[in-house]
Amino acid sequence: MLERVPLLEKDLGSFAEHSGEAAIERIRELARPLEGARVLHVNATAYGGGVAELLATHVPLLNSAGLHAEWQVIRGSDQFFGVTKQVHNALQGADIDWTLEMERIYLDMILDNAQSMDHEGEYDFIVIHDPQPAALLHYLRESPINGPNTKWIWRCHIDLTEVNERVWRFFRPFVELHDASVWTMPEYVPSTFDMERIVIAPPCIDPMSVKNMELPGAVTIEVCRKYGVDVARPVITQVSRFDPWKDPLGVMQAFNLVREDFPAAQLILAGSMATDDPEGFQIWEDILEARGGDDAIHLLSNLQQVGNIEINAFQAQADVVVQKSLREGFGLTVSEGLWKARPVVGGRAGGIIRQIVDGENGYLVDSIEECATSILGLLKDPVRATEMGESGREYVRERFLSTREVTDWLELFTVLT
Ligand code: UDP
Repeated sequence: MLERVPLLEKDLGSFAEHSGEAAIERIRELARPLEGARVLHVNATAYGGGVAELLATHVPLLNSAGLHAEWQVIRGSDQFFGVTKQVHNALQGADIDWTLEMERIYLDMILDNAQSMDHEGEYDFIVIHDPQPAALLHYLRESPINGPNTKWIWRCHIDLTEVNERVWRFFRPFVELHDASVWTMPEYVPSTFDMERIVIAPPCIDPMSVKNMELPGAVTIEVCRKYGVDVARPVITQVSRFDPWKDPLGVMQAFNLVREDFPAAQLILAGSMATDDPEGFQIWEDILEARGGDDAIHLLSNLQQVGNIEINAFQAQADVVVQKSLREGFGLTVSEGLWKARPVVGGRAGGIIRQIVDGENGYLVDSIEECATSILGLLKDPVRATEMGESGREYVRERFLSTREVTDWLELFTVLT
């Protein structure tokens, strides 16, 4: 049996406060004919990273709308996650040595997972997230969970624009067994991909989660104090997994340029170690070394009990939120920062381009120098920074709250039925 992720209940109706009554009514209307439908989401980690973040809200909201949704996580070994991390990088364009041994490690573990799926009858919709569990359907075609009407959907959260052809040749046939696929942006779909039903549905944030709800100012200040952040001085925050594509070293270099004009500025680099991401620990070591003993750079992770409330406080306290990614699927942290009415400086990459309207709610940057200049501009003009942050909050309200994503999925289920 795979690990079933325990979830808190969420009440769809309560989202009206942020998304408006009409959005809730639309969801109820779409959900009515789907009442009781069994939905299974499968991914590789229950904690850390954007997919886990999304599912923690998406699945309870489907249940609140009247469907029977659940979330299960595949099992993996260090070796398996070592391979899938390389796959992740290769699908985003990295040049790796793909070997038959890697195929064996990957497929053995998927087969193992397929054999341990519990057989509590068929599902109406099975959603497979990202490459890690992508080959499951291949082994589950004859299983009791796959009835004659079961629809399989592959949700790709990453950018395949510059996909490594060798690795894609291996994965593509598994992925193409699905009935539909969902992508963050149309540009991410490789031209060689053959599937009739391709849906574009960017991810979203939960405005009422502990990470995104409005914290009382005193709580924000207390959390910052606890981690040694001085709220009387400017704060720049980047929250990300410790991953080279998130460019934490570049953020530190930009910060050092900012400090030439704002010597009192502080940088918070908060990151989690996801269980499916073995690279994280190495990157952490690299950043620690680059930081030296600099106490204006707060390097924090879940290992120091930095959880959702702390992330919330670090983003809310920031004068500028940064997400200087070099490659990015969507970049939930951008919407998280904007929702807290902070201006966001983001790398011109992937889904960040969809969230930052350059010069309106933040800045898109292509280099360390541009990143530093944009942060400086915002620190020098706090009135403008506040206006930009507020416009960012409205931008997110209209496009990137959980209710929009639930609507997209129910529309897809409807056409697949
Ligand atoms: N996150 C977190 N703690 C951390 C680092 C990241 O809670 O220390 C969260 C972050 O707030 C966001 C998600 O993990 O909700 C990261 O999603 P994003 O789309 O930005 O990047 P991904 O990790 O999926 O590449």
